[in-house]
Amino acid sequence: MKRRQLLQAGSAAGALGLAGCASIGGSGAKVVVVGGGYGGATAAKYVRMWSDYGIDVTLVEPNAAFVSCPISNLVIGGSKTLGDITTPYDNLEKRHGVKVVKDYVTSIDPEKRSIKLASGGELPYDRLILSPGIDFMLEGLPGLRQPGAQDKVLHAWKAGPQTVALRRQLEAMPDGGVYALTIPLAPYRCPPGPYERACQVAHYFSKAKPKSKVLILDENDDVTSKGPLFKKAWAERYKGIVEYRSKHKVVDVDVATNTLKFEFNDDIKASVLNVLPPMRAGEVAVKTGLATANRRWCEVDFLTFESKAAKNIHVLGDAIQVAPLMPKSGHMANQHGKTCAAAVVALITGKPVNPLPIYNNTCYSFVSDEDVVHVASVHRYDAAQKTMLTVPGSGGVSTMASELEGRYAMAWARNIWADTLA
Ligand SMILES: Cc1cc2nc3c(=O)[nH]c(=O)nc-3n(C[C@H](O)[C@H](O)[C@H](O)COP(=O)(O)OP(=O)(O)OC[C@H]3O[C@@H](n4cnc5c(N)ncnc54)[C@H](O)[C@@H]3O)c2cc1C
Repeated sequence: MKRRQLLQAGSAAGALGLAGCASIGGSGAKVVVVGGGYGGATAAKYVRMWSDYGIDVTLVEPNAAFVSCPISNLVIGGSKTLGDITTPYDNLEKRHGVKVVKDYVTSIDPEKRSIKLASGGELPYDRLILSPGIDFMLEGLPGLRQPGAQDKVLHAWKAGPQTVALRRQLEAMPDGGVYALTIPLAPYRCPPGPYERACQVAHYFSKAKPKSKVLILDENDDVTSKGPLFKKAWAERYKGIVEYRSKHKVVDVDVATNTLKFEFNDDIKASVLNVLPPMRAGEVAVKTGLATANRRWCEVDFLTFESKAAKNIHVLGDAIQVAPLMPKSGHMANQHGKTCAAAVVALITGKPVNPLPIYNNTCYSFVSDEDVVHVASVHRYDAAQKTMLTVPGSGGVSTMASELEGRYAMAWARNIWADTLA
């Protein structure tokens, strides 16, 4: 940024009445980012880059490194390891000057513009970017709330220790056993993710435990994403291994006997249970009162990602109430992160916010350890409806699974990890 622009930006920031610390080019302004996942880490890096390193950015994240949910189903299938999907936060600090604080945010005070940390400290902000991902709604699953239950019946829907633990349960399962995967009513994190997981487990069984079965128990009326492609894989590659049943709403889990209880269907007992409970925005967003859509998701202004419930707080990623046909995906959270970063830099430096954000999403799913299918879409801001709409004719879906797409999928993963963290 040139000196004249910096001076203009500085005086505009003053005119906007920023919380006493923003000056030239945003230098001195404090942005705090909560959550170092796909949305938060991207936003942290890009606020630094697009403010010419003038804005002070602190990222609060409890985990020591970024562990990717995309590709984590391959760890469960056995063709990748947790190390393959883990990236340290070093480059955010060394290359981009983001202050990474390993801690957990226990509360946010929107009036005071500060957050409290589990370690006891407090951090003030001019603008807060919140990308806490999802948490689980266990109210309707009493058995899972019993002590120790969640160590036995896993979700593995946040990549990390549970991903490895689920793999171990599958390895320990005798051949001839049943792995039962339950899927909640949409919206949930990553629409095709559960069906990809079923393919990964089926692929493992087809090689190592051919008498075993994968039973998918879906609360939805049908497969929610890439249906024909997944159904073809189950019917052809995994014939006799995968069984799909729709309209199965889980209402309880008997952890002692590994039994699922449903609203309308008979109980099902399986060797390994993998229950995906209904989801909502990460707890910190809900308890701050930001989850204004059904007390589940946070409504935002799609030009800036500023919360509709609290000024100076921007919410991203899976935690938001999505626009029509916008998936809760890592790719999407990364795009939210960049749109929000640009808007936050503009707001702090007194520049106009981009009135027409456009972004895309590609979602790859591995149907074996090599063969992949994808679905893609482009999303554009609609000023009349104040939401993001898909651009007609822009999307696409694979016609068949292929090894070539498998190579594209791994290139996509490496690129987005670099874009988010390098
Ligand atoms: C099995 C699986 C496969 C998937 N595959 C794909 C795929 O192929 N492609 C794709 O695009 N997407 C995929 N997804 C979806 C993708 O992982 C999510 O959409 C994405 O992670 C959302 O990003 P986020 O920033 O909202 O949340 P996250 O990436 O989950 O990041 C949230 C972060 O916030 C931190 N946090 C939470 N609360 C606090 C707090 N109070 N204080 C501090 N930090 C906090 C958490 O520790 C976490 O690191 C998949 C998901 C799963 C589960």
